[in-house]
Amino acid sequence: MCRHLGWLGSPVSVASLVLEPVNGLAVQSYSPRRQSHGRLNADGWGIGFYDGRTPRRWRSAAPLWGDASLASVAPALHSHCVVAAVRSATVGMPIEPSASAPFTDGTWLLSHNGVVDRAVLPVSRTAESTVDSALLAAHIFAEGPDRLADTIVSVGTADPDARLNVLAADGVRLLATTWGDTLSVLERADGVVVASEPYDDDPDWHDIPDRQLVEVTSRGVTCTPL
Ligand code: GLN
Repeated sequence: MCRHLGWLGSPVSVASLVLEPVNGLAVQSYSPRRQSHGRLNADGWGIGFYDGRTPRRWRSAAPLWGDASLASVAPALHSHCVVAAVRSATVGMPIEPSASAPFTDGTWLLSHNGVVDRAVLPVSRTAESTVDSALLAAHIFAEGPDRLADTIVSVGTADPDARLNVLAADGVRLLATTWGDTLSVLERADGVVVASEPYDDDPDWHDIPDRQLVEVTSRGVTCTPL
């Protein structure tokens, strides 16, 4: 199970979200605290951020902890909306930069923690990789991310063993689902963090129950059962 993080708020540096927190994604790449499937997230990473309304990405198939270029550049990358992930590849899935989240359709950035039987997903000509997460992303983009809740319920019904924690952003909204794995939210004075697990021990983190849709906008955070 991979780990992901989303930010919506004032512009902040990517380093402040991913590299600097005491238990941030950089540490979660080798020592996650709440991961129940897989121990290491060493099969790649991806950082997506909005430059105005334009999504931009930097992805790799190598471990995040060893990337000296990211460590050098991340303090200078600032954005109001970020989707970042570290990856623990499911057995049998390809390890390549295009299999690392976030995936995009040119508008949305999307990450998936979990696993899904590719046979229950439609064949896609637009998926970025053959990894299950890329096929799931292509399906969500095709259905329309506004219908994320319905799409997750129907995929979860078709594959009862699926774990479907999804995090998606379009630059003005974050959408996240819990379906088989952990998710926590931190409401800060300057914005909201949604993450697979808390990046520090701030008592303001709160855990989201399973099978919820979380929506973050400039008006706040709402949580709806799936
Ligand atoms: N199944 C996806 C992959 O192989 C996600 C894995 C995960 O959440 N650990 O990349």
